Amino acid sequence: IPNHSDLKPYNHAVAGHDGTLCDPDGELFIKPCVQQEIDFYQTAQESHQAFADLMPEYLGTLVLNGATDVHSIDEQLPAVADHISQHMKEEAVRMAHERAAEAKAEAAKPHDNIRWNPNKNRKIATDKSVVLENAAYGFHHPNILDAKLGQRLWADDAPMEKRKRFDEITRQTTNGSHGFRIAGMRVYKGGDNEAEWDQENYKVYNKDYGRFQVNKDNIVQEMRKFIFNEKAGIDEDLGRAIAEAFLNDLRHVEKVLAREESRMYSASLLFTFEGDGEALRAAIDQQAQIASTPTPAQNARVEKLSNGEPTLSTVRVDSGIVMDDDGEMVYGNGGIIEGDVKVLELTGSDDDDDDEDFSSLPKIYNLKLIDFAHASWVPGQGPDENSLVGVRSLINIFEELAESPTTTS
Ligand code: ADP
Ligand code: MN
Repeated sequence: IPNHSDLKPYNHAVAGHDGTLCDPDGELFIKPCVQQEIDFYQTAQESHQAFADLMPEYLGTLVLNGATDVHSIDEQLPAVADHISQHMKEEAVRMAHERAAEAKAEAAKPHDNIRWNPNKNRKIATDKSVVLENAAYGFHHPNILDAKLGQRLWADDAPMEKRKRFDEITRQTTNGSHGFRIAGMRVYKGGDNEAEWDQENYKVYNKDYGRFQVNKDNIVQEMRKFIFNEKAGIDEDLGRAIAEAFLNDLRHVEKVLAREESRMYSASLLFTFEGDGEALRAAIDQQAQIASTPTPAQNARVEKLSNGEPTLSTVRVDSGIVMDDDGEMVYGNGGIIEGDVKVLELTGSDDDDDDEDFSSLPKIYNLKLIDFAHASWVPGQGPDENSLVGVRSLINIFEELAESPTTTS
């Protein structure tokens, strides 16, 4: 008999607080947050470009309060409002009203036991949300792992009770031995027991997994469960290719963090990759095909014969195909001149909107630094060695995962 209490509502978030809006097909991820996180995103974007490139793209903030309506979302975020589905907007409004009601109820309570109330239903001290790029967008079945970084998990402003509690977690988990722990993980058709899959066929590893099941001796084995999965068609070759890709990104993260003067407590590295082997292979093949196609110039100067008269004009090149103003192909790959157009020269272009061509490609993987509720810049104090311990352990682990088993035996 299937146990219905094991089935969880579909949600890409693998860890953290409730209240995130994550439209599974949407490009955006909206998370209630504190002002410090907004400040960190903004300053990263303004003056720490290499660091900002490690984060999900930051699109702005939304104020969700009792008075929020769908209309106000369009007003606050004109640039991205069109991307947010009507359903998501309604969901945001529903959450806003819920939060306003909670805040009101909280304010009406007597005040004594609020201050040191350990984490349960922690109130978020703002009605703002960050609007971010959804890291899981564009995948068929994203496998996601949240690696919470740090041996020290608390920021300078944490009360003694929290410091003690978090230090105890560090002592008991791989935050102590490796400088990171698995805060949550979901694997498409993962694990040994199919009965444990949710209705989307994911094995979901909740926060207790990294607290109580993963330890310094089995961490590599447990991370293997994230990457390698024969049940979903991710065999040794495919798994090693993904591990290699994450490894390259991790080395880049290490370089950037070592050059910056920042501090993050309880931030995470969010690993996402295509968990469906067939879709993964198709995505890799498609990328390889694009990589092997010589990069064309963005514009072409062409001579067109209109009404028998040659006219010169500049037209756009899309993936090696010259388009005329009406979007018709006039010049294909390999230099074949079609119809009445003669290509005179291919020229570069400085317009950037060709990025759009890649957004519809199936995704392979991505690695993002997230969760900056306790992050700040510390000019003059050197790199964030506390977070770097975790990044370097992850590099070692992914080196092992990327190795062929025959070379290790
Ligand atoms: P919290 O402060 O609640 O821990 P996080 O920023 O860590 O918030 O986010 C919680 C979870 O939400 C993460 O574990 C991840 O699964 C998901 N998440 C966070 N940011 C994104 C994003 N930009 N795209 C997709 N999922 C995200
Ligand atoms: Mn988090």
